[in-house]
Amino acid sequence: MKNSSILLVDDDLVIIRSMSRILSNVAELRFALDGDTALRLARESPPDLILLDAEMPGTSGFQVCETLMADPEFADVAIIFVTSHSDTEVHIAGLELGAVDFIAKPISEPLLLARVKSQLRIKRLTDELRHTSTVDALTQIANRRRFDARLSREWLRCAREKDGLAVLLIDVDYFKRFNDHYGHPAGDGCLRAVALTLEQSCQRPSDLVARYGGEEFAILLPDVTLAGAQHVAQRVLDAMDVLALPHAGSSIASHVTVSVGIGFLDSVPQACTERDLILAADKALYAAKGAGRAQVWALGADHLSSQGPHWLCASLNRTDTDLLP
Ligand code: GH3
Ligand code: MG
Ligand code: MG
Repeated sequence: MKNSSILLVDDDLVIIRSMSRILSNVAELRFALDGDTALRLARESPPDLILLDAEMPGTSGFQVCETLMADPEFADVAIIFVTSHSDTEVHIAGLELGAVDFIAKPISEPLLLARVKSQLRIKRLTDELRHTSTVDALTQIANRRRFDARLSREWLRCAREKDGLAVLLIDVDYFKRFNDHYGHPAGDGCLRAVALTLEQSCQRPSDLVARYGGEEFAILLPDVTLAGAQHVAQRVLDAMDVLALPHAGSSIASHVTVSVGIGFLDSVPQACTERDLILAADKALYAAKGAGRAQVWALGADHLSSQGPHWLCASLNRTDTDLLP
């Protein structure tokens, strides 16, 4: 398990020294003597906990707290104010800004230790909860909840910046027969191997690979062209050939293959929703299955609203309306 990390912020070096002596065995420590440095260090790498002097010249502790709490990336960072104020109103204002606790100066060693340890325990539980609620237990890649949340964010971003957006739905071919032939535990192993292969097929940090459900996976490609999405899909098919997991029950190959449906938008038009993009990918996947499996089909998500059916068969490089499901 990774060590906890604490950022100590105080314009008084004596207090920083005293807190770091008390906490040296509890967590990894970083220090800041002013609010701006605290913000910079927190952004470089969010700590688990910040012990924050409320009164500092320049950017105050309250301002640091307010700035960090306004940013969703710091939603899980616990902030404890360290202050010589004993006013209830000051305490309430701090708690309303998002701080979790107050510690009074002069600092009591046992109290500091107890409060910090208790907050770090809560932070570890929160991290664990976030992990289990967003990561698929079998494959350890993102789960559908995380995929949906990212899709919503990217949808808004692509609409704003007029970027292309693609969703790839990937389904293992004849997977029921794989389970029947090799057994369910081997099927689980196969899904883990496919998940790893998909992750290795994506090169940009902004791409997201998720388990969408059962033996179906999804890849979100923000800021992409149709050719770019087709390229990633083809890389997935090729990687499955290289992986070459034996599949005695498959009617189309001697190893495990996948079919890929691409839902694509040049830029997000007003008449479209996220659902249309998923629906387009799903229809394209259905067409890829119907056309023989182990291939890629793509469908523009805006076909549903304006231009009528608009099929692109990536593997054969043709436009075809005959195979509409
Ligand atoms: P197609 O080529 O048309 O996709 O056929 P298929 O057999 O892959 O599709 P079907 O939907 O008939 O079967 C999917 C199978 O995936 C059935 C289900 O038992 C299996 N499956 C779903 N989730 C898991 C899992 O977590 N582990 C294992 N081992 N199997 C799973
Ligand atoms: Mg399926
Ligand atoms: Mg399948």
